[in-house]
Amino acid sequence: MSWTVSRFCLAEKNKQLLHGLEQELRFLSEIGAEFIFASEPENEPLPENQEAAGDSAEAKTAAGGSARKVDEEKQSVIHALEEKVLRCTLCPLSQGRTRAVPGEGDYSAPLMFVGEGPGADEDIQGRPFVGKAGQLLTRIIAAMRYKRQDVYITNVVKCRPPQNRTPFREEIEKCRPYLLAQIESIAPRVIVSLGKVATDSFHPSAAGMSRLRGNFIEYGKILIMPTFHPSYLIRNEGNKEIKRLVWQDMQKVMDALSRK
Ligand code: URA
Repeated sequence: MSWTVSRFCLAEKNKQLLHGLEQELRFLSEIGAEFIFASEPENEPLPENQEAAGDSAEAKTAAGGSARKVDEEKQSVIHALEEKVLRCTLCPLSQGRTRAVPGEGDYSAPLMFVGEGPGADEDIQGRPFVGKAGQLLTRIIAAMRYKRQDVYITNVVKCRPPQNRTPFREEIEKCRPYLLAQIESIAPRVIVSLGKVATDSFHPSAAGMSRLRGNFIEYGKILIMPTFHPSYLIRNEGNKEIKRLVWQDMQKVMDALSRK
């Protein structure tokens, strides 16, 4: 490749990068996530118990060993569960699917996102939230300073309903044990329920999302934060107020997670 051509390619690449960055910053400023411009926090001192553990190498090894064992057990339980979902035929949704979508992410995540059910892209890839709504969810997660792989993402139903219709009650009920088992094993501190179907699956009510969003629901030891589904944000693309409200909800989630 000649020098001129490679310089041209580099300039094109830079232009694309800049464009992507501009879009990302516009999105963050639209939702009011100004903190992204704040500087990194100073190195925080180690919590007391971590310093104490450093006193005894033996204690550290023993504790690390048992934590690792719990982790391995947990991994195999959730992995087995995901395998079961992939083969599930408990409801008619299994007949129309390309692939079941169990969920993905960190099996010890403090934060879980629960959506309604897979769409067309998810059905093809076997992964949750990878379509347009998924891309928006990924940006929201990034704005919260998490990575997708640090949280766990799943749905109320694990197979795509035909034409993306709302899942029927019987389908939700058949799939429910999978969701409950995922929650029990992963034991997140906070769950964000995305939209009415997910929120109803934890806390059935006649209220709409505008009433429900923004207020934590206690679910045993777990806090559930209902918020608007990313697809709703996409359908109301020009409505900055909805984005702002979702961001407000996510700030409450970050706040709850930052508490010990
Ligand atoms: N919508 C959902 O509720 N879940 C997905 O996985 C994708 C879109």
